[in-house]
Amino acid sequence: MPHDGCKFIFVTGGVVSSLGKGITAASIALLLRQRGYRITLQKLDPYLNIDPGTMSPYQHGEVYVTDDGTEADLDLGHYERFAGVSCNRNSNYTAGKIYSAVLAREREGGYLGKTVQVIPHITDEIKKAVLSQAKENIDIAITEVGGTAGDIEGLPFLEALREFSQDLGRENVLYIHLTLIPYLSASRELKTKPSQQSASILRNIGIIPDILICRTERSLQNEHFRKLSMFCNVPRNAVIEEKDVKNSIYEVPVELAEQKLDELILKKLELPLNNLDLDSWKSMISRAVNPSGPLVRIGVIGKYMGLRDAYKSIFEALTHGGIANDVALEVKGIESEDLEGGKTDALEGLDGILVPGGFGYRGIEGKLEAVQFARERNVPFLGICLGLQCAVIETARHLVGLSDANSSEFNPECSHPVIHIMEEQKGITEKGGTMRLGLYPCDLLDGSAARSAYGNSRISERHRHRYEFNNEYREMLAEAGIVYSGLSPDGQLVEIVERPDHRWFLACQFHPEFTSTPLKPNPLFKAFVKAARKNASE
Ligand code: GLN
Repeated sequence: MPHDGCKFIFVTGGVVSSLGKGITAASIALLLRQRGYRITLQKLDPYLNIDPGTMSPYQHGEVYVTDDGTEADLDLGHYERFAGVSCNRNSNYTAGKIYSAVLAREREGGYLGKTVQVIPHITDEIKKAVLSQAKENIDIAITEVGGTAGDIEGLPFLEALREFSQDLGRENVLYIHLTLIPYLSASRELKTKPSQQSASILRNIGIIPDILICRTERSLQNEHFRKLSMFCNVPRNAVIEEKDVKNSIYEVPVELAEQKLDELILKKLELPLNNLDLDSWKSMISRAVNPSGPLVRIGVIGKYMGLRDAYKSIFEALTHGGIANDVALEVKGIESEDLEGGKTDALEGLDGILVPGGFGYRGIEGKLEAVQFARERNVPFLGICLGLQCAVIETARHLVGLSDANSSEFNPECSHPVIHIMEEQKGITEKGGTMRLGLYPCDLLDGSAARSAYGNSRISERHRHRYEFNNEYREMLAEAGIVYSGLSPDGQLVEIVERPDHRWFLACQFHPEFTSTPLKPNPLFKAFVKAARKNASE
């Protein structure tokens, strides 16, 4: 059981996926936090992978990493960025994680001869997962369920959520259903029927939503509110419109607050209203939307550029860097393969170049072109994880003359593996959750760009990699102008490299994008955009 007084909010989705449930859940969390409540956020994903760590970006978008090294759904990024909550291994459960716990217990004889079934054993395990976040210091635990009402694999999850109101009492549990009101351009009308059907699917399961949040491109009219209220069985004041925002996703909480969603939630949960303080959030938005500085163009060189979700946190962190520097950012996604063979026209006119993380050889030669371009043309450069590895390979090939230099990830036979597998990774064959993951400390060199960006001599950032800088090449690369400005405290692992002979050229083995928030941009993104801004005005 949770501690007395802990309340639960469940957010489900209807009609289609990709409605922005994560952003909505995160926005609700922000509003409740700004009314003085202590919040947690959690995502339940009904698919069978244990976590998204082994999934392709085409399937799942970015794999987000938490402080404790959990490879998680990218919605956890929204939770941390909007609501400032700190996510951990309890913040994301998949059906795979739930089933494997139940199956392992069955093998241990933990069910004492019983038949192990979806109901009650899987549903109990789901309830345990939800309760795991309702710690003593939490007032409201928010759980978002992935997928769409009606998905077969989601059924045990919805059943578990239904049981919650029986277990804890209706006043302690709130169901929010996020649904789509499609606009048919041929008949020029918004349609409420898919949402009515979605609410009916939930009713069949025994869940009647307390609040219906309607995603829509256009404003709903009275007639839509009336129909939705009547046929989804939700009071009129609990039908909330969530229209596409004009400028920034950070406007979503403000728009929801204008419709008093947070007040409604607190009333339904029988909690005091407290004062809502959105001042700093709103002033952040006005800086984001009306920057007084110049236009700054940043190129991101990746291999899934058609798929923005694959680099979600990178784009968000760049936005934060733009807000901190009061500039209008134009971020151009560039397919690295298009640069191969020196076809670097797309890089002309950029004020900053960023090479993000990645896996596998495809696209590497194009990323190396981008690094070389940035280095030779003195364009501010930020390399992240694979981006650091590319920066090292590029220097080794072009400034040290090791033309065969590579990472042993891409060419295990190369004569100069300037990037090689980490010692601790050598015996590992299992793929899921086995990389070097999560927060590790790093000491910064006095006088370096990294030290000046962070204003601190010791930092901690999140990692996700198997390969590292090969220390046998430290001296050779130092002679070619590389400075090792961030090292693990024992001095063994290169965490940051930079070039003092350059405007701003810095690459890190960790992922600074995961710790950046709009109110507290990550120092490296802030410093990178600052350098790009300076470059733009020179
Ligand atoms: N593939 C590289 C490694 O495993 C880089 C990983 C990354 O960019 N996240 O070390």
